[in-house]
Amino acid sequence: MTQELASPVMVYNKITLAFLEKDEKLFRKEYFLDSVFQFRIAFVLVIILYGAFGYLDSRMIPEYAYTFHVIRYLFVIPILSIVFLLSFTRLFRKVWQVLLLISFITAGFGISIMTMLVPENYAYYAGMMLIFSAGYFFIKLRFFFATIAGFATLLIYNAGAIFYAHTPSILLINNNFFFISANLIGMFAAYNIEYYARRNFFLSQKLDSEKLLVLEVNKNLEKIVDERTKELVNAKEHAEESDRLKSAFLANMSHEIRTPMNGILGFSELLKEPDLTGEQQQEYILMIEKSGARMLNIINDIIDISKIEAGLMKLDIRESNINEQIEYIYTFFKPEVEAKGMKLAFKNNLPAKEAFIKTDREKLYAILTNLVKNAIKYTNKGSIEFGYFKKVEMIEFYFKDTGIGIPKDRQEAIFERFIQADIADKQARQGAGLGLSITKAYIEMLGGKIWVESQDGIGSTFYFTLPYNAEPMKESVVQ
Ligand code: ADP
Repeated sequence: MTQELASPVMVYNKITLAFLEKDEKLFRKEYFLDSVFQFRIAFVLVIILYGAFGYLDSRMIPEYAYTFHVIRYLFVIPILSIVFLLSFTRLFRKVWQVLLLISFITAGFGISIMTMLVPENYAYYAGMMLIFSAGYFFIKLRFFFATIAGFATLLIYNAGAIFYAHTPSILLINNNFFFISANLIGMFAAYNIEYYARRNFFLSQKLDSEKLLVLEVNKNLEKIVDERTKELVNAKEHAEESDRLKSAFLANMSHEIRTPMNGILGFSELLKEPDLTGEQQQEYILMIEKSGARMLNIINDIIDISKIEAGLMKLDIRESNINEQIEYIYTFFKPEVEAKGMKLAFKNNLPAKEAFIKTDREKLYAILTNLVKNAIKYTNKGSIEFGYFKKVEMIEFYFKDTGIGIPKDRQEAIFERFIQADIADKQARQGAGLGLSITKAYIEMLGGKIWVESQDGIGSTFYFTLPYNAEPMKESVVQ
């Protein structure tokens, strides 16, 4: 049974030994449960002994034997027996100390009468001493009640001895010496016995509540350890994943750099041939230029992503006209698309004077370029269309192609850094897999988001938003 103690230190009344209210209730309950068995044994013994001493009455003072037997067998023993029997009822726990007090006084009262009647007989004086020791030490009466009962018995004896039996004063004094001493010793002993019972109770309660606390702390600790372990495992997995991706990225990167490098070196070697036609020379120089441009692209991407990762990428926000940018991109890429035998189309859905937003012009240019370049790269026939729509407080751009499409399970991964660099990726074509992650980072820096809708083998549409945040320009400003 564990109950929390009301006070952290043992607080008790120095005279009655009582605890504060809540602890006292608990203690009394436990004291009763601890005592009831011993009390019953003690009571049975007291009853037997009280009865057995009747034998001495008949042998030593036959003239009083009848009176004494009446006291013993018709008065004291019946009362003690009733108390004993009551101990088997539920009510007993509430009143047991009072009943024990009455029993103590009853037994003392009986012997007092006997001592009064035969004051010179030491057997009854000794009987009184036995009653005191039984009352104080044996029957589990608590200190406070035992003291009351002990001194009440003493008073009864003295009153009877003085006013009724006229006991000779020397005997009265003599008996009082012993009876008072017995009471005092009994009091001290009972006080100590009860004090240590209470202390025991207090300490075991304290131990229990501390055990509970420790258990709780332990439980919490286990929870924390579990959480930390999970976090660590996650962090480790994350670190391993990053490490794996970075190694794969590096491997792919060196491949990507080596290809154009080999191109440059290879065609430079070829250029050394003395009898090349002018046409051949032009062709090789073109290849070298293309390879150089490809390498520059890759290096730029790496620099950009490093800047983004390091948080060094700065924004230069100004008013800019999106219609103009879209048209520029269209004009720039039209020849390349047409060279692949496809169609390129664009749609501006705002009149020029309303097509202004506050954004970073260069970043937006990079975003548009990247998405168109991807559309061209991953489309072999059909058409590519791009443009924007005005939505509530934002502009939604789209890039629609009829290309190879992206499987559903890859549609989120393509925006991740280095993901494309994963050499296990079958989709990996030419390119470092950084374009979309740079694009996504730029869009997010500018306050928008990007997503893709795509069907494998049919085509993809990339969408992204930017805040529509500029006042419409006056007519005169727009050329
Ligand atoms: P990469 O340099 O590989 O093109 P990106 O980050 O630009 O790197 O793109 C990541 C991947 O997303 C591409 O490798 C490709 O698999 C897929 N992807 C991007 N755009 C398209 C598109 N328009 N159609 C189909 N797949 C695309």
